[in-house]
Amino acid sequence: MGARTPQTMEFGHLSAYGYRGKTSMTTQYIFSFQQGDGKNKALLGGKGANLCEMTQIGLNVPPGFVISTEACLDYLQHHRLPDGLMNDVRHHMQEIERTTGKTFGGKSQPLLVSVRSGSAISMPGMMDTILNLGLNRETLQDLIEATGDPRFGFDAYRRFIQLFGKVALGIPDEKFDAHFEEVKRQAGIKADVALDADHLKEISELFLQVVREETGRPFPEDVYEQLELAIKAVFDSWMGRRAVDYRREFRVTEKMANGTAANIVTMVFGNMGNDCATGVGFTRNPGTGANEMYGEYLVNAQGEDVVAGIRTPKPVHELAKEMPDLYRQLSELRNKLEQHYREAQDFEYTIERGVLYCLQTRNAKMNAAAMVRTSVEMVKEGLISKERALLRINPELLEQLLHPQLDPHNKIPPLAQGLPASPGAACGKCVFDADTAAMMGKAGEAVILLREETKPEDIHGFFAAQGILTSRGGKTSHAAVVARGMGKACVAGAEDIRVDVRSRRAQVGEVLIHEGDIITIDGGTGLIYLGEIPTVAPTVSEELQTLLGWADEYAELKVHANADTPEGAKKALAYGAAGIGLCRTERMFNAKERLPLVIDMILAEDPESRAAALEKLFPIQREDFVKLFTAMAPFPVTVRLLDPPMHEFLPSEHQLEDEIQALKKYETMIKGQRVTLETLSGHLTTLPAPFDLLNEEVISKAIAKKELMLKKVRDLYEVNPMLGHRGVRLGMSYPEIYKMQIRSVLEAAALCAQQGLKIAPEIMVPQVITAEELKRVKEYVAEVRQETETRYGLTLDFKFGTMIETVRACTRAGQLAELAEFFSFGTNDLTQATFSFSREDAENKFLPLYNEVGLLEDNPFEVLDVKGVGQLMKMTAEFGRHTRPGLKIGICGEQGGHPQSIRFCHHIKLDYVSCSAPRIPIARLAAAHAKLLEHEFFNHS
Ligand code: PEP
Ligand code: MG
Repeated sequence: MGARTPQTMEFGHLSAYGYRGKTSMTTQYIFSFQQGDGKNKALLGGKGANLCEMTQIGLNVPPGFVISTEACLDYLQHHRLPDGLMNDVRHHMQEIERTTGKTFGGKSQPLLVSVRSGSAISMPGMMDTILNLGLNRETLQDLIEATGDPRFGFDAYRRFIQLFGKVALGIPDEKFDAHFEEVKRQAGIKADVALDADHLKEISELFLQVVREETGRPFPEDVYEQLELAIKAVFDSWMGRRAVDYRREFRVTEKMANGTAANIVTMVFGNMGNDCATGVGFTRNPGTGANEMYGEYLVNAQGEDVVAGIRTPKPVHELAKEMPDLYRQLSELRNKLEQHYREAQDFEYTIERGVLYCLQTRNAKMNAAAMVRTSVEMVKEGLISKERALLRINPELLEQLLHPQLDPHNKIPPLAQGLPASPGAACGKCVFDADTAAMMGKAGEAVILLREETKPEDIHGFFAAQGILTSRGGKTSHAAVVARGMGKACVAGAEDIRVDVRSRRAQVGEVLIHEGDIITIDGGTGLIYLGEIPTVAPTVSEELQTLLGWADEYAELKVHANADTPEGAKKALAYGAAGIGLCRTERMFNAKERLPLVIDMILAEDPESRAAALEKLFPIQREDFVKLFTAMAPFPVTVRLLDPPMHEFLPSEHQLEDEIQALKKYETMIKGQRVTLETLSGHLTTLPAPFDLLNEEVISKAIAKKELMLKKVRDLYEVNPMLGHRGVRLGMSYPEIYKMQIRSVLEAAALCAQQGLKIAPEIMVPQVITAEELKRVKEYVAEVRQETETRYGLTLDFKFGTMIETVRACTRAGQLAELAEFFSFGTNDLTQATFSFSREDAENKFLPLYNEVGLLEDNPFEVLDVKGVGQLMKMTAEFGRHTRPGLKIGICGEQGGHPQSIRFCHHIKLDYVSCSAPRIPIARLAAAHAKLLEHEFFNHS
């Protein structure tokens, strides 16, 4: 029955069961596990929906009910629970009492419940949960009587007081921990399990006193008051700092998850003796993806002990020896879960006096390698379709696979070893708390967060750290689960490390690690090293190749690479690029041995001397293109003509002034003297090429050249260089530069053709604003083409096109398409032009604020601004294709490698996206997603 407003009470005979959604009359806020729709995660939260679904497919789930996310939103809006909600809660509690034969707050067989948070999107550990609710002085006695186990009773009681005190009453853990540790100290006890009933009773009394002191009120004895406070606390935790930070970091929007449900679940106990246990399981190994049950358990323990890493649990296969029948049941549970959900599951279970209960299940968070392997294997096992195999992997996750690994030939011995909890290698300064990690991370330092164990409140430290290291806890501890979710390296349970946060150091045997010392961790092996260990580039696994091959079968967008060298091209091919979408030729100019030639070309005073300098560059560029085309054959290679302003190839004004000054000092020193190396030794480091300078004449020539450069640098000075003399404007001012580049491309193409290679070169013009510019460059191309075809006696096959990176080019796309055979959106510049701010200034000054307070959703230089820049692109594509149907269009700005941007590019029917090589696997998968999700709503207006 749902929560009712006073009006609906009049219609009490109308059952609200089965009713969905709101009307002015009634809203159903509560759903029993038998009744809730397991598919409706938005309403019931992921945990609640799964509890309902598991109950309904016949798994042994403790009875309970879900209070919906709508109730949470209503509560957060009005600062009180919806009218009548607690009445309905009572009704449902009575239902549980009937099923279990226990009584909530009652004599004999007291019913205890947990109140668990759970939103539509899994946010592990980010919101609050309360266990053992329903205990008070009276029910405690009943529990002890019913179980005949005072130690168990007091243990449950003290846990409840602390958890309830922290979550519902806002009392910090430390207030309780101090008493707990003191009792242990006085009793001379190290491990919690060694505490007896009297100790735990004493601790409970001390905890009750803490509550009185901290709140000015006794601990609530009324179990329904406890329940109400707990429900409110769980709802409040939706807006808690951890949850808010998490949503911001992972871009969990309101549409994806709005509010948390509160799940009220009958408590079952894994800590009632040695025929009890509690554990966490994965239906497949989340580290490797192997098709085997994986997990850990603790005998005679409560679930939080496993998750919090307070005791180090045993691997699940040991249960086969310890409780063979239950292990068999657990394997059955695992199979049923996978068969039903058709997805690897991460589940929690408890064995209470020999009976197995499943407490929760959710899709397993696995690292990228495991996701890829399970996708491929589940398709081969016939469990899922290829579409599902692709869609279950967030493309961004693949970035993990492209993480560096520790050099396998490393000879440095490890300092310690823990459990390999989340793969990847990470290196950084060791820090001992989350605040310091966050502070240093913000300052741009690489840090490794080293803790005894982590807690949900450490989440900001996780965001900032390169990797996480704990000295306690297992592979399913908080540290491991959260790090895996974030794709960060984690080593857990390195028990040889003794962490002493107060003195800001840790110790391994004789070795001390101070805060700030560099350490390296390998989340794939669990090894920990002192100092920095070299890393090696990752490789593309066979499984990833299979998966991306499937992605290509679905994707309509092709994925090209931004690459400028043959090595870059090979890397791009290894990642599966179907072409080079952007070869920035200026990078070819910047090589050390070429720069002097480029400088000579810039310093040239007239076209003839410039042509002479260019003549030296020509064969070098042609050779570059031959290599590039050969490496990429038969795929297209889009060569962009020179783009940056000339001064970028010259030293800065300051640097030149300093060098000239140093040379002059040097000149005075050696004038008329016999110079020896010794007399100069003090000055050698400040001078370029000192041995050449042992001669006065050489020095004065060097000074003259530097002075000429300085003059040129001053001549070339621009107030806004990025909006100045660059791109095609250079081609208009210095046609000989563009002609040399065009000749290099076309002669390289001719040489390749002579070798019988099938290649597809493309010449692309940057920064175009008028069709007239493009027309002139096209004339240069025609002229060079004719010369080259005559010289080589063949017909060249290539394309000519333009970048679209100015707003004017967008508006003139129809005219540009008369000349261009392809367009490529340069969304780095187009974004800058549309927003009228530069990336550098924006990211350094105001963009973080804009993102934080919601003035802008994303960084438009990373994620395509579909509502602004995207609209220009859409219009441009329409204009262009109106003139030239079938016009080839792509994107080569940074955003071309971002999944959300790729979805938009598919939506406006671009032909390809081009991105840096390591993003190619991400882009290929994202292109398949874009196709598979094309019928789903996509808001871009
Ligand atoms: C662009 O502007 O998007 C682009 C690819 O060109 P560059 O980044 O070289 O300016
Ligand atoms: Mg550009």
